[in-house]
Amino acid sequence: MKYNITIIGAGIIGSSIAYCLSKYDCSILVVDKENDIANEVSMANSAIVHAGHDPEDGTLKALLNVEGNRMYPQLCEDIGARIRHVGAYTVMTSPEQQATMDALIKRAEERNIPYEVLTAEEARKEEPNLADDVIKVLSLPSTAIIIPWEVALKQMQVAVLNGTEVKLNCEVKAIRKNENGYVLETSQGEIETEYVINCAGLYADRIANMIAPLDIHTNPRRGEYFVLSHDAKDFVHHIVYPIPTDKGKGILAVPTVDENILLGPNAEETGSCEAINTTSSGLGYIRQELARSVKNVPFHHTIRTFAGLRPSISTKDFYIKKAEGEENFLNLLGIDSPGIASAPAIARYVDDLLKLPYEVKASYETKNPYRFNFQDLTPEEKDAYIKEHPAYGNIVCRCEQISEGEIIQSIHEVLGAHSIKSVKKRVRPGMGKCQGGFCQPLVLEILARELKVRPEDVLYDQIGSNVVLDWKGGNGNA
Ligand SMILES: Cc1cc2nc3c(=O)[nH]c(=O)nc-3n(C[C@H](O)[C@H](O)[C@H](O)COP(=O)(O)OP(=O)(O)OC[C@H]3O[C@@H](n4cnc5c(N)ncnc54)[C@H](O)[C@@H]3O)c2cc1C
Repeated sequence: MKYNITIIGAGIIGSSIAYCLSKYDCSILVVDKENDIANEVSMANSAIVHAGHDPEDGTLKALLNVEGNRMYPQLCEDIGARIRHVGAYTVMTSPEQQATMDALIKRAEERNIPYEVLTAEEARKEEPNLADDVIKVLSLPSTAIIIPWEVALKQMQVAVLNGTEVKLNCEVKAIRKNENGYVLETSQGEIETEYVINCAGLYADRIANMIAPLDIHTNPRRGEYFVLSHDAKDFVHHIVYPIPTDKGKGILAVPTVDENILLGPNAEETGSCEAINTTSSGLGYIRQELARSVKNVPFHHTIRTFAGLRPSISTKDFYIKKAEGEENFLNLLGIDSPGIASAPAIARYVDDLLKLPYEVKASYETKNPYRFNFQDLTPEEKDAYIKEHPAYGNIVCRCEQISEGEIIQSIHEVLGAHSIKSVKKRVRPGMGKCQGGFCQPLVLEILARELKVRPEDVLYDQIGSNVVLDWKGGNGNA
């Protein structure tokens, strides 16, 4: 198989690049070793579109975060992804933090980032659960939250509608050069390509080393979280950050798009790209550190804990450069935070850097046609819709109130759901209080029926993650 461009990695970075480059009249392939779009770093993080005041002057992070933040509202409008401009409160709790606060304000001013300095009393009117020690607050209203895997999926769907091919479960194992460009040796055979864009996240250093040795190594840094149920949704309405230190942004309280609360993350070097387990020490540290910025934390509403790994490198900046001596091989390494906030700007930067020789197509899509969201309807509109489409009246996930119709819809879209986890990522059954205890067998039955496979063949996530060994029939609800 021969392509003009092959993108390695279907996280938010690979998806943003595919979305951007799919305007060109050329063949594009995206490969990912996982069984779904955005299954690694882009699935487990704080999901914040930071304002851009935090990265140091002169870094790619500063440049691309500020630009990415400005691009997000239009991007989300075009692809039909949800974004909430909840704003951020950076809280100062001791006079020694004034110098850092001043530096953040200076950067916000120089970068034209809207901000306001609030007294503790002013801030407490909005956020009564700020810690008693809070002296002053830097408010950054352009800070937003998204669902990173939704943004990735919706961009990739548009890329596919523009002709991009996506191969999942396709692991790149080796790369060699030939007279036309590169040959990728993958778990699905050889792929010939003129250009390679390596955005393999945690594994990007390994891919880079397949073509030209690079003295930069990914150093996975784990971040753990508590997830609180909707019952805690009024705990905070803004993202509450402490004043950052040289160790990072600190422990945050983050409202999510779907009205949960995330508490975390810590930052611990793991030395392993697989260490996505949570630890009692990590979660204990989050409990302790969070008390610096907020009080009355409703930990009793915890429904889950999880961890993600930052693909950090020692220079602490994004590394986006062509491989040594290779005009057509681009490496993206160290795309840790603010990678999500910067993703659309990273894609534009990559486009500018590569100077591709292809014409822009006479017509291509920028808008995602899959825009119907049953949850957005009013109760009256829902009633009317259910009369026409009864499956939307059959509630499968009681915690999140997700209907059979929405699950079926997610299965039949481009890059549709095909595993229990991919249904959960797209329409949320299993994200509520019972964490799938009630709805998982029903989702499994719907998947089997819609995909025309045996229930025994339905996967939780990866190949081999079959859920049932012997199906005796469901409870008939689905
Ligand atoms: C705890 C934590 C909190 C964070 N919070 C924020 C935040 O609030 N805001 C923000 O802006 N950023 C945040 N980030 C950073 C952000 O999550 C990342 O910058 C972003 O998700 C990176 O996306 P990616 O596409 O580069 O990586 P990924 O999503 O990991 O995608 C890389 C893909 O490459 C694939 N791949 C790897 N090796 C191979 C191979 N050999 N063959 C084929 N495919 C391969 C993987 O399967 C994967 O899907 C956070 C990160 C963490 C861990």
